[in-house]
Amino acid sequence: MAVHLRYTALRMTAITTLDNHWMGHPRSIAAALLESEGHRAIVDPGPGSTLETLRRQLGTHGLSVNDLDALLLTHIHLDHAGASGALVRENPQLAVYVHKNGAPHMADPSKLLGSALRLWPNELQQLFGETLPVPAENLRILEGGETLSLGSSKFEVVYTPGHASHHVSYFDHAESVAFVGDTAGVRIEGHSYVMPATPPPDVDLESWENSFTAILERKPERLFLTHFGFSGNPSEHVLVFRERLHKWAAMAAKSMRSASDESAAMASFMAAARAEIEEHLPAEEVEHYVFNAGLNLSFLGLARYLRKRASAAS
Ligand SMILES: [Zn+2]
Repeated sequence: MAVHLRYTALRMTAITTLDNHWMGHPRSIAAALLESEGHRAIVDPGPGSTLETLRRQLGTHGLSVNDLDALLLTHIHLDHAGASGALVRENPQLAVYVHKNGAPHMADPSKLLGSALRLWPNELQQLFGETLPVPAENLRILEGGETLSLGSSKFEVVYTPGHASHHVSYFDHAESVAFVGDTAGVRIEGHSYVMPATPPPDVDLESWENSFTAILERKPERLFLTHFGFSGNPSEHVLVFRERLHKWAAMAAKSMRSASDESAAMASFMAAARAEIEEHLPAEEVEHYVFNAGLNLSFLGLARYLRKRASAAS
C-alpha cells in the first residue's frame, strides 16, 4: 500500500498590488494591500497626491479607507508615506507603524517638508500633494525585531537602513515575501534591470550591507518593491543591486574628483548613470526608471555620503 503524503500550502495573507499611478504613470509607486481574516493593512500608501487613486484602487476591491486596520511604513519619504496623515484623518482607528527615527517626522512633518522643498522647489505640491501630520496616538513605534499580527498573518519587522537611516522591512514568512521598500532599489516589474535610488540625506553604504545580509539570511522567495512590484529571485536581485550601488558610488566619487564644481559633477554623474541604464533598457523604459528615482537626487545622496565618510576618515 502506497502512503501518500500531502502537503497543503495554506494561504495566510492575500497580497494585492495597488498601482498609485503617480503623476499619471502606471508602475511607479506600488502600495501593497495585505488581507488576512477580514483584517487589512497597507504597506506604504504612497504620497498625498495619489490618495484619490488609492481610494479608487481600494474601491475596485470593494474596500474603503475605513476598512483598513493599519499602515506599515517602510520609511517616511513622501512617495511612500505622505498620505498617512490624510488616511488617519479619514479613519482615526488606523495604526501607523514606523521606525522610531522616522516617527517624530510623521507627527510633525514640517522638517520633512522643508527638506523636500529644497529638493523640489517648484514641484512639491504637484508631486506629493498634501502631507498631514499623523496624531501621536496613531503611531506605533518600531525598532526592528517586532512581530506584527494581522488576522492570522504574522510580519517580522527588520531594521534595514542604507537608503534611509529609519528604514524597516516587513517579512511575511508564511508567504515568503519581504516588503523591502527602497532597500533593494528600483526594479520595474517585467524588467530585470535594478537601479539604485540614493536620495539625501542619510544614504549609508556600510549599514546598507547589513541590511542585504538581513534580507538574504531570511531567504524570502519574493521581494516586494515600492518601485515597482514583485521581484522573483532575491539572492540574484540583491547581488546585482549591491554591485551596481557600489559602481554608482564610484561614479559619483569620480565625478566629484574630476568636475570643477558640484553642478558639473552632478551633470557628469547623471550622464554616466543614464548611459548605463540605456545599455540595459529600451528608450521609453529608461525615462520611466529615471522618473521613478531622479538621478539628480541619487547624485546628491551619494555625494553627501562620500563627503561625510571622507571627513570621518580625516
Ligand atoms: Zn525612499
